[in-house]
Amino acid sequence: MKLKTLAAASTAWLAALALLTASGFTLSATYMTREVTCLFNIVREVRSITQLEVHLLAHERESARVALTHLPEHVGARDAARRELSRWLEDPREPPVTAESAGVFEEAEREIEHYLATHPRAQEDREAEADAGASHEEVDRTFAALERLLATRLAEARIARQRVDEVHRLSEIVSLGAAGLLLAGVLLALWQLRRCVYRPLLSIRAAIDRYGAGSHDARAPQGGLDELREIAVAFNEMAAALAEQRKRQLGILASVAHDLRNPLAALKLTVDGLRPDRPLPHEERLRSMLARIGKEAARCDRMLTDLMDIARLEGGELELRRETRDARELARDVVELYRPTATAHELGLSLPEEPVPLRCDPIRIEQVLNNLVANAIKYSPAGGAVQVTVARAGAEVSIAVSDRGVGIAADDQRRLFERYFRAPSSSGVAPGVGLGLWAALRIAEAHGGRIEVTSAEGRGSTFTLRLPSTSGGAAA
Ligand code: ADP
Repeated sequence: MKLKTLAAASTAWLAALALLTASGFTLSATYMTREVTCLFNIVREVRSITQLEVHLLAHERESARVALTHLPEHVGARDAARRELSRWLEDPREPPVTAESAGVFEEAEREIEHYLATHPRAQEDREAEADAGASHEEVDRTFAALERLLATRLAEARIARQRVDEVHRLSEIVSLGAAGLLLAGVLLALWQLRRCVYRPLLSIRAAIDRYGAGSHDARAPQGGLDELREIAVAFNEMAAALAEQRKRQLGILASVAHDLRNPLAALKLTVDGLRPDRPLPHEERLRSMLARIGKEAARCDRMLTDLMDIARLEGGELELRRETRDARELARDVVELYRPTATAHELGLSLPEEPVPLRCDPIRIEQVLNNLVANAIKYSPAGGAVQVTVARAGAEVSIAVSDRGVGIAADDQRRLFERYFRAPSSSGVAPGVGLGLWAALRIAEAHGGRIEVTSAEGRGSTFTLRLPSTSGGAAA
């Protein structure tokens, strides 16, 4: 799983939860507001009904007093009660909830209107007195209708209250559920973070620590998020590459030690012949021994210089000290260097008549030619001809080294100049580390040239160094 996917899934989950909770709360709040408004209206209406009852009683009482006393203050009080009755009757009401309560509502209204109609304000007090008996019945009926309305409204209020309680309970359940889901979501996200991010990170960190502490086989487990897996894979690849490089470096050291052992053994053997407790050999023999010592010392020196060169090339520092030299001389020197030791091989040299001027660092170019000739000898274990040919072709100087040795398979030829590459067909033939050609190509390229290979497995190879020629006359 990718980090982006995990983050998107967690955000979507929390957003959906928040949306759900918010809609639940909004719905329950809307519903509760409606019910509370309804309750408020019913309370107001209950007040209206009680006011109607109070004013109905007041009207009755004052009507009776007017009939008895005919006093104007009772007439005024009765009219005031009547006005109040009309006012409270017109007070806005909550529409009835059920058909039954609607019936009760209409009946109460009818009764009051009837009461008011049968007690007109302008009515003469005498008539009122005469109708007093009938009026009591109407009052009772009206009162009873108002009481029924009151009871109905109170019942409705109780129902509304119950509904509010239910919604409240429901919103409690919803909020508890949302909190539970939120907690579960957070726990799930934390668990995922621990499983896919924290633990893999700790493992990578532990692997890096172990590697830093010297355990070169430490590798990071490749788990968790894709990005962390990629980091672990990159770390493991880097550790494997470093291990491989270390192995090669140890191989180089072993190979160098092995290669140094031969000239050193020869040196030791020669020096042993000059023991201080013995007389010195004849001059001729002494000279030959000293010459051998010089040659072996030069061999050691060359090997160490090559090694240092490779170290420098690896570090990217290649400083050329250019001078103009005749390519024929360079080729001749190299052939002459190998001629005395390569007794099983016929070293041939083919040079043009005319000088072949070359602007180059002669030590480096000799290093390249040394490598090509040494390889030609090394990889022709059965001996045979090794031919060095110098030629001028247009704007180029070519120095070709051919042998009739083991050759190189076509597939391996492409990789010959890679660092540490050794062709399987020839690597068993002679010791080596696979750095000579790599260094040779770097040097050729630094001179603006290249190295070409043609080879046939079992029949031999030709390595051709091509460098830009120096126009003009003879070598300096
Ligand atoms: P080394 O000889 O130390 O292995 P080089 O870089 O000089 O390293 O050569 C790389 C590889 O190229 C050798 O290991 C060998 O397999 C192959 N090679 C080079 N020169 C020849 C040759 N003349 N004939 C056959 N194989 C060769």
